[in-house]
Order: sequence, then structure tokens, then C-alpha cells
Amino acid sequence: MKVFAALKITALSSFLTVAPITEAFAAEVNVYSYRQPFLIKPMFDAFTRQTGIKVNSVFAKKGLVERLKSEGKNSPADIIFTVDIGRLDAALQAGVTQPVESDILSSSIPAAFRDPDNHWFGLTSRARIIVTSNERMSSGDIKSYEDLADPKFEGKICTRSGKHVYMVALIASVISHAGEAAAKEWLTGVKNNLARKPQGNDRAQVKAINSGECDIAIINSYYMGAMVNDEEQSEWASSVDINFPNQNDRGTHMNISGMSLTRNSPNKDHAIQLMEFLASDLAQAMYSEQNHEYPINPDVRPSGLLQSWGDFKSDTLPLADIAKHRSTASKLVDTVNFDG
Ligand code: FE
Repeated sequence: MKVFAALKITALSSFLTVAPITEAFAAEVNVYSYRQPFLIKPMFDAFTRQTGIKVNSVFAKKGLVERLKSEGKNSPADIIFTVDIGRLDAALQAGVTQPVESDILSSSIPAAFRDPDNHWFGLTSRARIIVTSNERMSSGDIKSYEDLADPKFEGKICTRSGKHVYMVALIASVISHAGEAAAKEWLTGVKNNLARKPQGNDRAQVKAINSGECDIAIINSYYMGAMVNDEEQSEWASSVDINFPNQNDRGTHMNISGMSLTRNSPNKDHAIQLMEFLASDLAQAMYSEQNHEYPINPDVRPSGLLQSWGDFKSDTLPLADIAKHRSTASKLVDTVNFDG
């Protein structure tokens, strides 16, 4: 801090006309985020309280990787935040990230949930669960993703677009486990069981179960938490049972939200400090309580709500392997005309 103070005085006396110079010398980290501010700000605030380092964030629904590319060496961004292995891998492939060697990150984040070359790190995990109508289905009717292709469920399934990153990752995981031909057959079976054309987001599928349009949907686990706590949507949530698929074999497909250090990070040390803080017990517990996501760190207990859904076996397939099958998965979605 003394160094910063001395620099500030020198700078101020030499360049009195430059107004934002104190800002330039303050300790800060700049984040480009595809995650909405309300999901990450509480953790950033906790970090600032603990360290005095300010976190500035820019939120956008798309285009942040392109922005990093065009800004190049002049980019102010230190960290990129996003969800889904697809988007983390896209940033890696675009060359806008750099590896981070950190014992804290590698010891608190399971290997399946970080890049083997340390370009991206998972921060939270989420299960792609199957929810079923608690009026029209019995628990145990669906035991696996494979069951979704069983002809006895014809006309009963609702889902979002097969092209969405959450679906592409699930399909890629099936390719990884069973091969492309079996995955194609499976996806065709699922398509044949759809109650309607794929549409809407994950929550819209639960709404459709509540209104009787379908009986089965595939959604990310944290949406159940969000719906339970929403005045209008709690009724949707209360119409379904949660099923963790494939408990008798490979486990439930998991995905992550995660982060990467940018290639030209101007505040690298502070950025790594923030990344390590977000993997800490405190930040991990906050994520679980507030966003209903599973802690990435297996030593941190999930929130009471998540615990009430029960323990389950998760698929340990490394997400880096899933990333390799994403383009084949997207191709299959087109081949079987899943959304058509
Ligand atoms: Fe989501």
C-alpha cells in the first residue's frame, strides 16, 4: 500500500490535470462477464471487503470474446466469466486466455472441472436433471437419459432447443460414453418422444409440465432453486419431482460456470487473487446459498435446499473431453432435425 501511496503522490504532483489518475493506481480487477451481475456481485463485494481490491465488471449477453480479440494488448479485462464448457472452450480456442498455475485452484477444483492446461476453471457445478410430473408419472419411471428415448414416453417430453449449449454438452457426453452412432439413435428416439417443438428456456419446460402440455423435461438443477423462490414459478416447481439420471451407471451429467484469466490481463496478480477467493469455502458457500448451484469444491457443503434434493452420483467425465465432442453433437442435432 505504501508503494501505491507514494506513486499516487508523485503522479498527482506531476500530472495534476489528469483527473482519473488515482483510479489508475487503485488496486482493481476488471471482469468481462456473460453471467448476470446479480449472480456474481455478492462474491465480488465479499472479495473487496476482504482485500480492498475493487472489482469492476462489464456484463454482456454475447460478444465479449470478440471484444477481447479486438482490444488485444490494450484490453482492460483480467478475467472472463461464463457458463458452460462450450463457452469456456470457445474463449480458449479464440486465444484470449492464458494459463494460471495455482496450487489453491488445482487443489480445490476437481480435475474434471478444469482445463488440463489451466486455461479455464469451474467455479460452480450444475446437474442436468430430469423433472417429471408428480401427478402423471411415478418416481422411478425415468432412471436414465437413455430412458428418454423409450417409445413408451411418446409425446411426453418437453425441452429447449437442441442447439443450446446446455443440450449440446449433454449430447456430447452421450457421444463420449456411447459413441456417435448410439448417440444419434438416442437423439432420434428423444425427438420422437417430444410433446412439442423444442422452444423456450429450461423453466418454460417446467411451466409446460404444470399446465399439462408434457410430463417430462430436462433442465439445469439451479432453476429448481430459482423457481421455488419465485412467487409465480413456485407453483411450476411444486408440480414436478427431481430425478438425478444414471445413478446405476455413469452418474448425472454435470456442467459448470467458470472463469479464465485473459491473455493480456493488466492486473494479473490481483486477478489470480480473485480467482482463488472465488474457489474458497466462503465464496463457494455463497454461490450455493444464493444461486442454488453446487459448490465446485467437494469439501464445501451445498445449501440446505440442495441437500434436501438428496445426494447423487455425478458423471466424472472430464469436461475437456465433452468439449471435444461438441461439434459432432451440434451436427447430430441438425442431422436428426431435433428442433424441426
Ligand atoms: Fe442457465
